[in-house]
Amino acid sequence: MLIDISHAAIPAHHPLPKIIEDCGEYWQETVEGLVFPAWGHRGPNFNSSVFCKPPLPDELIGKDFPETDVISVLKFCSERNLEFWLALNVTLPFVRSGAAHVKDNLNRSSPQCCIVSPATLQALELCLQDLAKECQAANLGIQKIVIPTQDLWGMSAGQGEIALTCFCRNCQNWLSAHNIDVQYLLANPRIWQLLLADTGDAISPADNITRATTAGDVVAWSEGQTFYAFKELDQLRKERATRQEIVYRRRELETDAQKLLDYTHKASDMTGEYLVKYIAACKRLLGITTAAVVADASPYDWTSRMYFEDFDLADLRDRVTALDVTWEVWHEPSNEVAMLTRTPHRLYLHARARYLLDAFAERLDDAVNPITAGTTALSRERARSELRDRALKSRVSLLTAADGRIAERNQNTKGCVGSVLCLRGLIDVLCRAAYPDWDTKKPEVAPDLQEFFRAVTQSRQED
Ligand SMILES: [Zn+2]
Repeated sequence: MLIDISHAAIPAHHPLPKIIEDCGEYWQETVEGLVFPAWGHRGPNFNSSVFCKPPLPDELIGKDFPETDVISVLKFCSERNLEFWLALNVTLPFVRSGAAHVKDNLNRSSPQCCIVSPATLQALELCLQDLAKECQAANLGIQKIVIPTQDLWGMSAGQGEIALTCFCRNCQNWLSAHNIDVQYLLANPRIWQLLLADTGDAISPADNITRATTAGDVVAWSEGQTFYAFKELDQLRKERATRQEIVYRRRELETDAQKLLDYTHKASDMTGEYLVKYIAACKRLLGITTAAVVADASPYDWTSRMYFEDFDLADLRDRVTALDVTWEVWHEPSNEVAMLTRTPHRLYLHARARYLLDAFAERLDDAVNPITAGTTALSRERARSELRDRALKSRVSLLTAADGRIAERNQNTKGCVGSVLCLRGLIDVLCRAAYPDWDTKKPEVAPDLQEFFRAVTQSRQED
């Protein structure tokens, strides 16, 4: 199996030889390779002429385990005959550029790059050129990359509005050129509520739509879920509207639903097209031979704007294969409906974990970053509480690993990928490194979920 190292600082706290040994013991499997991030939220994990490599925190300088950058981890893998996978977050979270940032349908920007923007691809190419030089100097090569797709485009909700990305100029132009009525979607933000509901603290999406879903299905579903269609039609009934008026309103809702479905279809085409462009850049600059994506296994994933079934389409696979690159998909094991039948795949053992672990790593970055960590006491407290929140969510998500291993035995997969953060106490070690007073200032002590997890797996083995 492969072990995913979510953050470059992890080997400083848990050295690579120990990661291999402990993960092998934990999973009872041979560790065949490591997944290491090309960059984090503070910058590339290699020397770059354009973007600063984040400095190591003071307490780590001069320590005996130096594998906290791409080249040294690559060297480690090459010496031990392990596979090396470079994880590429193509939203380049360290790039501060309004020209490249995503924009939601209410015209607000977020600090992550939109992969449709030419500026994003250019910045990625600059980074990969630097990395290619470092590889050449070290006489090492990178053959395999993995692109997480679960958080390419974020969503938020508040005050009765759903905000979804991305409607930047580049996305608008692409969608318009593919016959999507972008101006109608922007002028009528309420129609998104046919498929997405603001439940107060989260968005509840209709993620069960497939390419075969019809506008009638959407309205019926939205009514059944007491979403937007239910509210609209219920209001008419209360106003004692005639049957004909209700039929007319339902037709209008179906017309809107069709516009949303046209959008989701084209948006999925767009994600596929741009993933191929990024894989092509990796082929050209690094000479890779294998490319994988990490995908959410729901039939339609709103934050990757991709139908899961599209990962299995000959068209997408052929375009990657035409680059002389082998294509595979890593997905969570929780969804048994949407299994790939023609595309090689691996199980990412934790449902939604890649996304949650990335969110945890992002807050960890903020905490150790001298710029953000040095701001006011209030924001420091907030950063700490966010880190705690994300640490807890990560732990809960890692628990689902047990189900993954059971599913693995029933499927013909290329293997599985586990997270190093499953190792006992590692999340706390990292939090403690970010905040030395982590233990004393921890208000509510969470039950040790690892213990719980061990108890569950033990009882299963006994069965
Ligand atoms: Zn965009």
